[in-house]
Amino acid sequence: MTAYKDRSREELLQEKELLEAKFQEIKGKGLKLDMSRGKPSEAQLNLSMGMMDVLNSTTDLRCSVGVDCRNYGVLDGIPEAKELLADMTEVSPDNIIIYGNSSLNVMYDTVARSMTHGVCGSTPWCKLDEVKFLCPVPGYDRHFAITEYFGIKMINIPMTESGPDMDLVEQYVNNDPSVKGIWCVPKYSNPQGITYSDETVLRFARLKPAAEDFRIYWDNAYGIHHLYEDKQDNLIEILMACKQEGNPDMVFKFCSTSKVSFPGSGVAAIGASKRNIDFIKQQMTIQTIGHDKLNQLRHVRFFKDIHGMVLHMRKHADILRPKFETVLNGLKNELGGLEIGSWLEPRGGYFISFDALPGCAKAIVAKAKEAGLVMTPAGATFPYGKDPQDSNIRIAPSYPTPEELAVAVELFVLCVKLVSIDKILE
Ligand code: PLP
Repeated sequence: MTAYKDRSREELLQEKELLEAKFQEIKGKGLKLDMSRGKPSEAQLNLSMGMMDVLNSTTDLRCSVGVDCRNYGVLDGIPEAKELLADMTEVSPDNIIIYGNSSLNVMYDTVARSMTHGVCGSTPWCKLDEVKFLCPVPGYDRHFAITEYFGIKMINIPMTESGPDMDLVEQYVNNDPSVKGIWCVPKYSNPQGITYSDETVLRFARLKPAAEDFRIYWDNAYGIHHLYEDKQDNLIEILMACKQEGNPDMVFKFCSTSKVSFPGSGVAAIGASKRNIDFIKQQMTIQTIGHDKLNQLRHVRFFKDIHGMVLHMRKHADILRPKFETVLNGLKNELGGLEIGSWLEPRGGYFISFDALPGCAKAIVAKAKEAGLVMTPAGATFPYGKDPQDSNIRIAPSYPTPEELAVAVELFVLCVKLVSIDKILE
């Protein structure tokens, strides 16, 4: 396959004519396809339907310490739910608080509390002239939306294949006291599917923050979301690493079962040091008398323990793997060698990240929409929705059926080719 950049103008125009005809043919079909949001498919949701049967009107609804889960009480989660989510996030049950149904909500709450009441006794961020967050890019749009909402200045940190550029992270965190946090998706990251290397995690643990209230926002949303049994990424557990490096309070770990059981009806948690946990609980006592214990009980009775959860995740993988492979094969077969885009092959998570030629992402997404394929808006993977290169596009293969996905990928690569030719001919 000759790279487009090495073809003559006539060759490119000829190729464009063929591609345009194909595009019009597909457009004529009036398709309605969506590769935009990382939602589990119906088949995946069906895997957890047994959860609907574990509690009924005759079930004993008391948790392991005898509390009736129908009633008020137990602020930080029933012990068996703490154990399950602690195992899921590889921390001790003493270092975890169970929240409601959404980890994003916990992250929002954590930033909001830091704005109004500070972090473990430090000055509330709203009283400071400037608060900054580091944002590894490309990253998760909803993280960036939270910090933007609170007027926190976001600084792009480029991702490498082993995690964020740690030279830059160290430079900012260790020297600038207005840098209060960094958004991290350390395993099978959104959107690239990158897992932070051992060295990256250890460099995080060894940071010497200029701000005493600096925290790493470690959103391990895809911690157990492998695609393969024989090829899995491993991530060093950061809470212990920070403790060993003399920074026990530097990290907040977030997790949920949104993409294990039901998004929107899962269980979320925060993992942190005892000092952080105690501080958070002071606010929680004002905020709620306790979260949904029946849902916590339902999850524990369905999964039983972490082994049950791991087996369950294999069923998700069996559904997701062929979808990822459809997309990756489509990209490789149709774009390989053309030098008009690059991508990684993730071993887990929910996304594939595609980097088009600079200046092409918006046009590709618009072209796909024209023929009925909805993609995540270009720019969404960057703070303020601004991709300086206009290059990154997030592909979410989970929701469409395999048949729909095959058509969607065919259309996507067509759009990439057409827009790239226009760019090269400019
Ligand atoms: N964190 C990341 C990195 C995500 O990709 C998502 C969903 O796509 C979430 C958090 C949302 O989590 P929750 O459903 O627990 O709010």
